[in-house]
Amino acid sequence: MGAMKDGALVLFSGGQDSTACLAWALDRYPRVETLGFDYGQRHSVELEARQAVRARMAREFPHWGARLGEDHMLDIRSFGAIGETAMTSDRAIEVTGRGLPSTFVPGRNLVFLVYAAALADRRGLTALVGGMCETDFSGYPDCRRDTLDATERALNLGMEQTFRVETPLMRLTKAQTWGLARALGGEPLVAITVEESHTCYLGERGTLHPWGHGCGACPACELRQRGYEAWDADGRPETRP
Ligand code: ZN
Repeated sequence: MGAMKDGALVLFSGGQDSTACLAWALDRYPRVETLGFDYGQRHSVELEARQAVRARMAREFPHWGARLGEDHMLDIRSFGAIGETAMTSDRAIEVTGRGLPSTFVPGRNLVFLVYAAALADRRGLTALVGGMCETDFSGYPDCRRDTLDATERALNLGMEQTFRVETPLMRLTKAQTWGLARALGGEPLVAITVEESHTCYLGERGTLHPWGHGCGACPACELRQRGYEAWDADGRPETRP
């Protein structure tokens, strides 16, 4: 069982952040599996992006391809139905009375981690890796490290386990996340992130901008574009993991 312990399960949506997390995990763990959730997203685009990122990473980085194991997809649409926010229905993306963006699905990361831990237990994986970040998303209370520390403790108590909830992006800006991709996989990994990962809330894949595909106007595109342009203007520095 010794070697079996050295494995990671990456919460992988196919976005820029989880693409960086997947590379980070492949760089450090001999066995890495991925987990995605179908919670009634508006678009299947991001589900397709997951497969495209995985396939291209495995092809262009064969030593990572050898470590990359199964992909898991869990249906949690009943949870998505509770959220009923802009992510899962046709409401506009706006800031709500609580000061949270309407894209916030209450408790989403808590639910993700319970499912991830149950699966990781079955798969013999101990690191749960997620792209949660408190730098740009102070509006998301379930992305805060405090919340994740408490969740990790609850999971370990409740499952009699030794899981670690690892959040390599926690203190990084969006610009630094591009730098992390470059440090881990050079410009080829930056290119995979630009061309294959998906961030746009509207599911737009038509135009390829320097920072990736997207409508260029929704909050997710704006954040991604701003981060990329700041990083590029700064000379594309590497962010050491
Ligand atoms: Zn967009």
